[in-house]
Amino acid sequence: MGFSEVLGHEAVKQILKGAYLAGRVHHAYLFVGPEGVGKELLAFQLIKLLNCHEPRGGGMGDAAALDCCDTCTACRKINDDAESFRDGDPKDGGSSRFSDLMALAPVGRFIKIEAVREVIKRLPYSPVEGRTKCVLMRDADNLHPAAANSLLKTLEEPPTETLFVLVSSNPHVMLPTILSRCQPVRFGGLKPADITRYLVERADLSPVAARPIAAMATGSIGRAVELLNHPVVLKRVTWLREMNALCSAPDHERLAMAESLAADKQHVPVYLDLLRSWLRDQLLVIEGLNDESLSNVDLAAEARVAAGATDRFALMDKLARVETAERGLLGNSNLQLTLDWLLLRL
Ligand SMILES: [Zn+2]
Repeated sequence: MGFSEVLGHEAVKQILKGAYLAGRVHHAYLFVGPEGVGKELLAFQLIKLLNCHEPRGGGMGDAAALDCCDTCTACRKINDDAESFRDGDPKDGGSSRFSDLMALAPVGRFIKIEAVREVIKRLPYSPVEGRTKCVLMRDADNLHPAAANSLLKTLEEPPTETLFVLVSSNPHVMLPTILSRCQPVRFGGLKPADITRYLVERADLSPVAARPIAAMATGSIGRAVELLNHPVVLKRVTWLREMNALCSAPDHERLAMAESLAADKQHVPVYLDLLRSWLRDQLLVIEGLNDESLSNVDLAAEARVAAGATDRFALMDKLARVETAERGLLGNSNLQLTLDWLLLRL
């Protein structure tokens, strides 16, 4: 895998590859953005590019065509390290296959000071088998404060041929002294179309099965993969039909549904994501989009009937209420009361 096979994030790729071609790769990046969108994956591509024996493309400053070769010993070793790191094998900084890579992750709650000390000790030496010594930190917001402080001087004046990539989805809890020493690179969520493509190509789903999951994944491949065999997703069609019937049902049936959802407390956020995708589909029908644009394309006929019985403003109100319910639940509102309120107004 090279940059070209990482989904989305074209602007980020352009920034990083452009910096490489201009010889201006910053010594410390902070990759920030939602979880599961590919921040770490792109960090590994940058690390490969900086150490690849034969980078491809990039002639005449063409950043779009530039990529690592993905076959030299450096690229292959870094790919192996990326795989074991992804599979939850936190390193102490010293056991990567590629000897110029130190990949750190929290052990327990924190990235420990011992791991950071090891990094600081090894950095002043020249690269052993590559061109750049690279330090990758997953969940850098979990740097132990003592570890973060011990890192300040190194981040301020790093040894030559050094790259730090700190990765975080919660940068607001990081020490300002660390933040100010890193160049931020912001990652947005992936587009549903990109996630659909991923699920079709890599998880062997049909487009019809992939699209509702992509719509619920809020821009995150990691979230999409979690949803693949999620019990709520597996009964999506049945449940949406029940919800649809509820719109013309008496209050006691709505309250019974609210009660059964509340009993399945841990899955309520997924139910709400699914409900949102269904309401959005009806809005798209009203806007005149064709079936192919719907998330729940296998329920297109039902979506058209449901949309015919309501209007744009009613649907927007319903969507707003789903969001109010979600915010309330994040803020510890009473689950049963919130669901009662939502379903009585559906
Ligand atoms: Zn290579």
